[in-house]
Amino acid sequence: MKEPEILQTLVELQKVDRAILDVEHEKTALKEEIKGFKDRIAAKRGESASKKSKFEETRKKRVSIEMEIKTKEAEIKTKDGQSAGIKTNEAFKALQREIDSVKSDIKKLEDAIIVFMEEEEAASALFKTQEKEDKEEENVLIGRVKELEEQEKTRDSVIAGYMEKRSGVAAAVDKNWYDRYERIRKNKGLALASIIENADGSGACGGCKFTVRPQTVIELRKNTAIKTCENCARIWYLEPKQETAK
Ligand SMILES: [Zn+2]
Repeated sequence: MKEPEILQTLVELQKVDRAILDVEHEKTALKEEIKGFKDRIAAKRGESASKKSKFEETRKKRVSIEMEIKTKEAEIKTKDGQSAGIKTNEAFKALQREIDSVKSDIKKLEDAIIVFMEEEEAASALFKTQEKEDKEEENVLIGRVKELEEQEKTRDSVIAGYMEKRSGVAAAVDKNWYDRYERIRKNKGLALASIIENADGSGACGGCKFTVRPQTVIELRKNTAIKTCENCARIWYLEPKQETAK
């Protein structure tokens, strides 16, 4: 196979590789979008958990006050029991004072518990509303993730199709040039670079912008041998005239 023909097979191969790259870029963008949504879901769940723990804290406080009241009630019972064994009026009055003091403590705790229960009720109502809203928002985000993951799967099957096409196209390429193409592609992303033609007849490598002398552009136009960029090693090709004359 002569070099112009080989170049033509390489151009065909790059068309497929470029298409694969485009779909891979789309996939990367989708993955980023998915990650963004998943991060938002995780943040939402964190928020919900902290709201829930705040609500539970209120409940725990109430329960602990209730325990305290029970302890104090038991204390009164004990003291009541002691009163039977008391001999002097003075000691009896002292015990009575102690009982009254505990009773007044209980009264204060009961007042506090009323405030707590009101707070708890308000917190509970708020928590339930927010929990519902959070869940709804989360479901919207989860739905979005699913959609995007479906789109990602579609891209995978598109790539699989291109890969199949690629093996057919690659089989037509000269072995040595194919290896060379692959080495450059793995380093640079794309192995072929089109020449950007200037009005004065000179050009530039489409891969690295390296200057191409007018003589070289003429030789490329004649299309007798494959030329590569001295600077970036990419294989040069010229776009057909009608396409470059934009
Ligand atoms: Zn170059």
